[in-house]
Amino acid sequence: MLEIFVINALSDNYIYILRNEHKNITSVIDPGEAEPVINFLNNKRWNLDEVINTHHHHDHVGGNAKLLDIYKSKLIAPIYENDRISNIDILVSDNETINITGIHTKVFHTPGHTLGHVCFYMPKEKCLFSGDTLFYLGCGRVFEGTMDQMWSSLLKLKSLPDDTSVYCGHEYTLSNMKFANYIDSNNALLNKFSLEIKNKREKGLPTVPFNLGVEKKINPFLRADDDNFIESVGFSGNNASKSFGEIRLKKDSF
Ligand code: ZN
Ligand code: FE
Repeated sequence: MLEIFVINALSDNYIYILRNEHKNITSVIDPGEAEPVINFLNNKRWNLDEVINTHHHHDHVGGNAKLLDIYKSKLIAPIYENDRISNIDILVSDNETINITGIHTKVFHTPGHTLGHVCFYMPKEKCLFSGDTLFYLGCGRVFEGTMDQMWSSLLKLKSLPDDTSVYCGHEYTLSNMKFANYIDSNNALLNKFSLEIKNKREKGLPTVPFNLGVEKKINPFLRADDDNFIESVGFSGNNASKSFGEIRLKKDSF
């Protein structure tokens, strides 16, 4: 029903093209630049009905203006970033249910990386577009929000079902993996997936989408509330959100 195409953009961004053949609707999520999207659409002879943004950073909205101009698409973006993103047609906010590409989608406000960041979750399709909040084995840098906010945001995503496929905003997986291996070297599941990641990257393949259920067990940033893990890292005694902050700071200077 829903097809998802992964497009490489800029140095390490992912742009996602969503296609609902049945309803003849095409959308793009986080077009950091317009050209690769235009080339792809020309090839398929599809129009672009919707442009969707997770947050205001240039590497996610840089292609908006050109795409809106060419295709007259509707722009869907977080209400919280209305002053940072131009020409929004449909403002979305936390817990709202909207249609993206004609598919039921739930919006989660996930402040931290930016204050107005949102993620998009499609329950029936079992997929999550996590922008720069959750990466494979990592999470976004906390630029605008607080560590507490980012941890609460990650908890919202962690509460989603295990069989969710996650599509994130960047291919940061190898460098995230190095940190995860360093801080969590005895994690057998992490070691198993590290091999798969290395194989994919050696072949130049994307590591998206990744499975949320696995991620809950191997992403150090999602495990700040796992007492055994936190104790093994030497952060015991803190609450989960403090532990998260310590892991985030450690990664920032890794
Ligand atoms: Zn960003
Ligand atoms: Fe980004």
